[in-house]
Parts: sequence; structure tokens; C-alpha cells
Amino acid sequence: MLRTVILAAARSSRVERLVQTVPVSRDVVRRFVPGVSTDDALRATRELVAEGLKVTLDYLGEDTQTAEQAAATKDEYLRLLKSLADAGVTAAAEVSVKLSALGQRFDEDLAYEYAHAICEVAASSGTTVTLDMEDAATTDLTLDTVDRLRRDFPTAGAVLQAYLRRTEGDCRELAVPGSRIRLCKGAYSEPESVAFQSTVEVDKSYVRCLNILMSGPGYPMIATHDPRLIAIGEDRAKWFDRSPEDFEFQMLYGIRPEEQHRLAAAGYQVRVYVPYGEQWYGYLMRRLAERPRNLAFFARSLASR
Ligand code: FAD
Repeated sequence: MLRTVILAAARSSRVERLVQTVPVSRDVVRRFVPGVSTDDALRATRELVAEGLKVTLDYLGEDTQTAEQAAATKDEYLRLLKSLADAGVTAAAEVSVKLSALGQRFDEDLAYEYAHAICEVAASSGTTVTLDMEDAATTDLTLDTVDRLRRDFPTAGAVLQAYLRRTEGDCRELAVPGSRIRLCKGAYSEPESVAFQSTVEVDKSYVRCLNILMSGPGYPMIATHDPRLIAIGEDRAKWFDRSPEDFEFQMLYGIRPEEQHRLAAAGYQVRVYVPYGEQWYGYLMRRLAERPRNLAFFARSLASR
């Protein structure tokens, strides 16, 4: 219930304006978002890479409404990729892109064209692109786009959300040689007709999907902070004889950093999803919806002012 309310607020521009005006928001945001500029993103990347972690960078912004915004997002990704290449960190740092930030909602061709341009520069910089998955209304279009991009850029990665009823089937279809698939639980509010609603059902689906991906020929990216699912991931790696180079764990910036380091020290590849930019509102709200304790942290910060 609370999750649904927060996720509804995540899409409300009125609530967004309210939250943005509270100065303390910025302190709370910093826990999950290391900064707003390309330089901030690069600094966080350098720090994480020096700690033995890998990175995927997300320039925050979604549901872009105008062609100018979409072009600006594409340009920022191209700038970021150049900075990563100049800093010599592209072996450890890739980018995550939301098609809605590239204009998917109003011009699918434009979003494809911009995603293609980002993949092109990523490929020439020696790194990869993963297309984030958004709400269920866009799943087919996003998977189609990954499919098209993979013809020119075979390493283009997709994201599958375990809460969707369709995802087990998508895992079967997409677990092909060379595919890179990030498996996450799913962060949006979806109706029962398309998504499992209970934690137990979502977790069971995650394990079924994990089994398919870990036993298949693709490259699974296990995106979760859930200790039980991480343990199952470690177990399946042994069971299916997968070496640490053949899959990776992924977690969000600022969430369970000690676990990120533990896994890296144990010899696993761990990639941290690093969001940056001014448009942090939707991202922050999804993190608050996932964990009521984060909400309490936010409320305490407000109260202490
Ligand atoms: P949860 O059910 O949120 O948490 C399970 C358990 O993990 C908790 O009980 C607790 O033990 C532990 N835990 C969780 N958070 C914390 C914390 N802050 N501190 C300590 N312990 C904690 N979603 C999408 O819809 N599309 C995407 O493209 C997408 N990309 C993602 C990329 C990455 C790298 C990651 C990690 C997540 C991504 N997500 C994406 C978000 C994802 O769908 C979930 O909403 C989010 O990861 C929370 O789910 P969880 O698996 O961590 O488990």
C-alpha cells in the first residue's frame, strides 16, 4: 500500500516540486546519487573502480517530453562516454540508458536513433550499453529495440523484471549466446494482471528466472540487494559451473556497499549502478518505495531541520 502511494507520488509533478523545494532533500539524495555533473559521475566511477568494483552510469531523467530534452540526454551520454574513455576506465565502466529519456514516449524512431548513436560511441570507446527497463507498457518496445541494436552491437544489454508474469518466458527467449541480461525484481507499480504482487511470488519468480539465465549460454547480471537471492546466485554459479568472469552481481550506488565489497573480495565481479544528474526525483522515490526504512531516514532528515 505504502509502496503504491510512493510510486504514485513518483509520477506526480506537484509532489516533485514540493520535494525539490525542501533543501534537506539534497543531503538525502546524495546518499543515492553522487552528484549532478559529468565530473561528479567520473569522480564516483574512479573511486569505485579503485575499490575493485565495476560501474554502470545512468544519466538521470525519464519520460522526456520534448525533442530538445531527448537530444540533450543523448549528448550528455556521448560526453560521458568520451570522459570515461579519456580517463581510461571503459574496461570497468559502461552506461545504462532509459529509452523514455531519449524520447520513446513521443517518437520511437528518435529514441532508437539516439540509442544507436550511444551504442556506436560506447563500442568505439571499448564499452557497452544496457537499456534499463521501465513500466510494463514499454516492455515489448524496449525488448524490440534491444533486439534491433544487437544486430549492430551484439553486447547491447537488456533488463528483465522478475515481478512480471511474462518474464520467465522472456528469459528463455533471450538467454542466447552473447546476450547480456540484467535480472532485477522490478521497480514500478504494475497491476495484478501483468505482475506478481506479493514478495514471495516475486522472489520465487526471480529464482526461476535466475535458474534459466545461469544455466543458459548468455551473460547474466544479477541485480539485487536481497541476501537470499545473492546466496542463491552464488550457489547457482557453483551448480552450473559458471566462472566469476561469466556473470556479475549488480547493486545500486549507496545500497549495501559492505556487501558489494564482500562479493568483490570473494572474487566475484560486482557492478555498481551509479545515477547522476539533476533529475533525481523519480529515482529517489523508487528507492524510498522499496524500503520503508529509507523513508524514515528521509523523514528524520526533514524533522532535524
Ligand atoms: P528488495 O525486495 O528491495 O530487498 C530485499 C532485501 O534486500 C531486504 O529485505 C534487505 O535485506 C536487503 N536490502 C534492500 N535494500 C537494502 C538497503 N538499503 N540496506 C540494507 N539492506 C537492503 N528496476 C527496474 O524496474 N528496471 C531497471 O532497469 C532496474 N535496474 C536496476 C539495476 C540495478 C543494478 C539494481 C540493483 C536494481 C535495478 N532495478 C531496476 C531496481 C530493482 O527492480 C528493485 O526495485 C531494487 O533493486 C530493489 O529490489 P531488491 O532485489 O534489491 O530487493
